[in-house]
Amino acid sequence: MNRKSAVSDILKQKIKGLKCRECGKLYPPVALHVCEFCFGPLEVDYNYDEIKRHISHERIENGPKSLWRYADLLPVEGYPTVGLYAGLTPLIEAKNLGTELGLNRLYIKNDTVNHPTLSFKDRVVAIAITRAKELGFSAVACASTGNLANSVAAHAAEARLQCYVFIPGDLEAGKILGSLIYAPTVIAVNGNYDDVNRLCSEVAGEYNWGFVNINIRPYYAEGSKTLAFETAEQLGWRAPDHVVVPVASGSLLTKIWKGFNELKMLGLIESVPTRVNGAQAEGCSPVATAFKEGRDFIKPVKPKTIAKSIAIGNPADGYYALKAVHESKGAFDTATDGETIEGIKLLARTEGIFAETAGGVTIAVLKKLAMNGLIPKDDTVVAYVTGNGLKTQEAVINAVGDVVRIEPSMDSFEKTLSIKK
Ligand SMILES: *Cc1c(COP(=O)(O)O)cnc(C)c1O
Repeated sequence: MNRKSAVSDILKQKIKGLKCRECGKLYPPVALHVCEFCFGPLEVDYNYDEIKRHISHERIENGPKSLWRYADLLPVEGYPTVGLYAGLTPLIEAKNLGTELGLNRLYIKNDTVNHPTLSFKDRVVAIAITRAKELGFSAVACASTGNLANSVAAHAAEARLQCYVFIPGDLEAGKILGSLIYAPTVIAVNGNYDDVNRLCSEVAGEYNWGFVNINIRPYYAEGSKTLAFETAEQLGWRAPDHVVVPVASGSLLTKIWKGFNELKMLGLIESVPTRVNGAQAEGCSPVATAFKEGRDFIKPVKPKTIAKSIAIGNPADGYYALKAVHESKGAFDTATDGETIEGIKLLARTEGIFAETAGGVTIAVLKKLAMNGLIPKDDTVVAYVTGNGLKTQEAVINAVGDVVRIEPSMDSFEKTLSIKK
């Protein structure tokens, strides 16, 4: 596919600029993420009147088989230049898992098979690196819990940009190798993600790099909306009654809520009955704890969990994620490390999907919400499974059975297994 055919035609002046989520101050669409007046986060401001005149189900359905079919609602100005195959992952009707959990209309949005690095981060990075190129950066970087580093490194290789990825020192081997293979500079920081992020904010102030989740965060974050867009389209242009979303910085959850509401505002779906439910690991649950304690502010925590990809103790968008859960009348719950491993195994055993730890947290929380009656059995539910289990094998290596070892003979086979013929 060439870059032009990745999008049918480009809307002119679709992006108005950036806008502060708190005070509303407007900025041009440059590499900036914090309001200079009130320090609020900046968000992309679209020309919805223009978009509404052009967008339709047909225009989207005739688009490419990737997230670029929603280019009208994404913050790039020209044709996409990297990440042309990200998104449009399967929405799987999870009959077996549904039967176990007593849910009749359960779906798994399977981002374990996203292109090219097997996590939902390929969505946000396809947008961020395309935009970084539009903004003229020759080097890109990120602060990452693992999956973002993998995706930025892969897309930077494709885009032939210099690449610096910063990760916590104690990541899983599969996550580290999954970055190194693309030959970026991988900087392992002795500290947790929050230390890495703090350092990166300082580095971003001194070096003219496109930090996908810092100075170009407003563009990056919009990529997560495509999970809502695809879900609605795959359900026949309808928003589900419930979603269950893993929460790290809180950006993904916030943008899924925004995505459904944008579709409604543009007349592409009729209503948004969706309750947005957040899932965190018990050992790193600052947003879930604020929800349970009825607070509207987040108290940072020190992460201690096997779910490293979502171990952010001081989440940048935690406040907005909490707000989205309240607005949508959803809930939050948490999973212990043991429940996370059981969640990974349950999804694998019932649906044949091998998720990473974040997926284990999501499935464990889905189970709790169903058991607690927060998800009625005939409601349509979508659980977002955001990363691939092959990258976090350490988490389950002691929790799976062992092989049956035999000699290469019929005799040994039959003696060892004694299966009835
Ligand atoms: C990054 C990530 C998330 C959540 O990201 P947010 O920071 O909340 O947007 C969820 N699952 C996986 C596997 C991730 O890598």
